[in-house]
Amino acid sequence: MTLSDVARQKEPTAGSTKKYWIVNSEARVLFGEKGLLIRQGGVVTRSAGQAVSKFVNALLDGAENGMVSIDTGSVDAGKLAQLERLMDQLVEANLLIEAEDGERYDPVVVGLYQRAGGIVDRATIARRLATREVAVLGTGELADRLRESAGQAGLRVTGADAVESAYVTVVAGAHDDDDLLEEWNQRALAEERPRPWLAVLPFDGERATVGPWVVPGESACYQCYRLRRAAAFPDVAVSEELAGVTALRQKLDNSARYPGLNLVLAGMVTDRITEFAGLHEQMRQPLPGGLTTFEIDSTGITTEHHRVLRVPRCPVCSPAAGRGYPQVWFPRYDDEQGA
Ligand SMILES: [Zn+2]
Repeated sequence: MTLSDVARQKEPTAGSTKKYWIVNSEARVLFGEKGLLIRQGGVVTRSAGQAVSKFVNALLDGAENGMVSIDTGSVDAGKLAQLERLMDQLVEANLLIEAEDGERYDPVVVGLYQRAGGIVDRATIARRLATREVAVLGTGELADRLRESAGQAGLRVTGADAVESAYVTVVAGAHDDDDLLEEWNQRALAEERPRPWLAVLPFDGERATVGPWVVPGESACYQCYRLRRAAAFPDVAVSEELAGVTALRQKLDNSARYPGLNLVLAGMVTDRITEFAGLHEQMRQPLPGGLTTFEIDSTGITTEHHRVLRVPRCPVCSPAAGRGYPQVWFPRYDDEQGA
């Protein structure tokens, strides 16, 4: 039996062991005159010989559920060493990733594994994604899209009744004065063990936002964001009032008017939350106070990243609020830009 036949073989023979490899879908296999090229980004690995090309072709053809397998029991003793060397080369060339015993292919887990440069094992990532709950609060189209998108990524999505056990919470407000955000902000700050949370706001005619990423006690809180946004309001007489206002409860869901933008917001939130749940301990968490804005104009959707800084003497999150002499804080638009 040739090695290509081995690669093609589906049914394991009696008493044999099957070995599995995950195919790195970020690597491209190219067949040239001089043999096989494996390309990932700017790195190309060359393997000479038509036989190798044929073997790899047969191997990838037989891929099932993102994995290839070989029944080593069906290989002649003389060819086994050659086969093992070849498979090692393909692992080294980054085309294949050796699978763990009993591993099942999960593309999201493999994606995070690759994102972390392989420093977190896939079993750990899978366990974290399966056990860390993501609470999504809010109603309306945008909140629905957030739940749907996070669920499709394999995250455990819960709601308002399970916030106690949530690893991270996403709060989709109807608009930036929504009580839901203010209430959650105070509750998160009062928690003994502060957990990060992410505010998401639909397009309000000016912009949509993902953030701030609030790390209670460490980053700007939601009230800090409101104070800074109000300070940026062009009419100074009104801007002082804006930070403390209460909004009328609006029944109309404005987010329903921008289905495409909602998907973009949901995608960005899913990406951030998935990385946080799967890799948090090994990778730095999203920037505390980090905020991304999305604006729509004739060229399409434009995004910008900002950092919301804490407001000294913020009435909600500053321990110094209401004590001593007030610090001079000049409301400036630049503050909001993170400058
Ligand atoms: Zn604050």
